[in-house]
Amino acid sequence: MSSAYGMVNAEPVSCSIAENIQLVVQSIQQAALRTGRDPQDIRVVAVTKTVMADRLRQAHASGLRTFGENRLQEAQQKQGSLQDLRDVSWHFIGQVQRRKIKDVVGQFHLIHSVESLEQATAMDTRARDMDITQAILLQVNVSGEATKGGFSVPEVKTVLPEFEKLQHLTVRGLMTIPPWSKDGERARPYFRALRELAQTVEQQDYERTKMEELSMGMSRDYPVAVEEGATLVRIGTALFGTRNPVG
Ligand SMILES: *Cc1c(COP(=O)(O)O)cnc(C)c1O
Repeated sequence: MSSAYGMVNAEPVSCSIAENIQLVVQSIQQAALRTGRDPQDIRVVAVTKTVMADRLRQAHASGLRTFGENRLQEAQQKQGSLQDLRDVSWHFIGQVQRRKIKDVVGQFHLIHSVESLEQATAMDTRARDMDITQAILLQVNVSGEATKGGFSVPEVKTVLPEFEKLQHLTVRGLMTIPPWSKDGERARPYFRALRELAQTVEQQDYERTKMEELSMGMSRDYPVAVEEGATLVRIGTALFGTRNPVG
């Protein structure tokens, strides 16, 4: 019925996932209200890497409808196991390797992690061959850390006219991952810079590029991200607990 946080009314499920979801939703609501935002404008992307399909099913039963995966094979397995859940929106949030492009395009409602024009051009070609339009976000390396992929802030401004020509992709917004810190408050300047970049882009009045989504904030720092304008928060640990390292 209601669709706050991209969710529908929850069935009662007695598990910690349901409780965790409640806590996350409350924190989002509080952060939104602190800054005069409508909490309904913020959607939880449940980050499900290493999380088994049955726990995704629990999360779905508790109202979550958007799942974010980092690895294609793992995502495909879970999409297969959960085929009967027709209302799930699958997002791809990890690095898209060149040889995986053909399998990623068309299989996800939103790809958060487009990091170069060359990669986007290959995605556009694939989407054209499939006769679809793929929604994407540009990943922005706001901090300029050498270990992170993505466009630099100045690059975003120069590259967007090229994206307008890619007729089978639509840029829906921006995504960032700030430098790691235990203290979520440290991420604020990066979140703010992403929002300001989106505002600058919006003033360019592109025909096809839209800055509707800001994908920022993870378990440590999502309340800060919401205060700074996030519309998609990517949350794993705070929903599913600490991940086991994968071999
Ligand atoms: C793993 C991951 C997250 C979630 O991280 P948590 O700290 O567990 O909430 C968010 N975004 C990306 C890109 C990730 O890889």
